[in-house]
Amino acid sequence: VAYNSVNPKWEGGSGEASVCDNISGVLSSLGFIPVTQEVAPGRTNVVCTISGSRGAPSLILNAHVDVVGVEGMNDPFKLRRDGDKLYGRGTYDMKGSVSVMLALGKFFAKEPPPGDVHLTFVCDEEDLSIGMEHLMNDWLPMLKEKPTAAIILEPTEESIGICHKGFAWYEIVIEGKAAHGSRPEEGIDAIFPLGAVIQEISEVEKELYAKDAHPYLGHSSLHVGTLMGGTNLPVIAAESRLDWERRILPGELDADLEKEYERIVSTAENYPGKHRVEPKKLFVRPPMETLETADIVQRLKKASPVSHLTGMSYWADSALVSEAGIPSVLFGPIGHGAHAIDEWVSARSLHRVYETVKTVILGMSEAV
Ligand SMILES: [Zn+2]
Repeated sequence: VAYNSVNPKWEGGSGEASVCDNISGVLSSLGFIPVTQEVAPGRTNVVCTISGSRGAPSLILNAHVDVVGVEGMNDPFKLRRDGDKLYGRGTYDMKGSVSVMLALGKFFAKEPPPGDVHLTFVCDEEDLSIGMEHLMNDWLPMLKEKPTAAIILEPTEESIGICHKGFAWYEIVIEGKAAHGSRPEEGIDAIFPLGAVIQEISEVEKELYAKDAHPYLGHSSLHVGTLMGGTNLPVIAAESRLDWERRILPGELDADLEKEYERIVSTAENYPGKHRVEPKKLFVRPPMETLETADIVQRLKKASPVSHLTGMSYWADSALVSEAGIPSVLFGPIGHGAHAIDEWVSARSLHRVYETVKTVILGMSEAV
């Protein structure tokens, strides 16, 4: 927590280099050979493979080391304990889990696990996931053997997260022509077509809610994030702009999303007038879903019978691991205040997460 690893997306964010140095130092002192990957200047991952002794299936453990901004917090980088609660930026999301992984490293330094365990610490999860992208694109293909599963230790209140939504970001810009408000016939209104777009987005939203709900994630959805337009009250607006987000359920088809996008864009294009429409797809991240019957889900369930299967509302790096063909689950501690000023994690819960993941690792040589 003491290492400021605020994601540079936030003002004053200094990146992950210092916390990665610390992680690397701890792992080296345990006798491992950690590798630091410079993903971008000042943005680093650390990976460390603990070699298995019995050729059992290998596992990835993963945590992100960046944290969100600290505005409004007193002493965000000072770890403070109050009973069972450990306060400080990142305790819950997710440096508590980083410490669980280091503690597992300490345990398995003395007694090698049955199969390889890859401890992976990545940067930039709170923004564009350049750390996990690097890990999947550059590190994973170099491994002799593809890991059989991954546990992402994001905070899940000790539930087993088997799915989460993906998302896509879109933008539409409408260009018209300014004119005096008293002579609209001399201009091209760029605001009215946007009204039709908003109407259509709300129609699509209604249709999505009319569909069957996903058992863990409910419905897919979309919303307008920002909208802008016009320069002055008595002037016909020459430009307007709107962006919207689509949250995507596992199983939704790219082709259907494409149709929906075109449907929304076409309402602006078909709106009467001589305006120009410039749509843009900004960014997309896939959803993630691992079957309840998957080996790693069953192993976690066996190691922690009180844990329920669940879906997470947030997007996480796990989608990229899953997309790379590695069945992934989220499993992490109880706490509160991810992205809030009163962030804490339960120390007892961290201990249970440690014990559960240790049990899973030790059991990798046996059938589930
Ligand atoms: Zn997180």
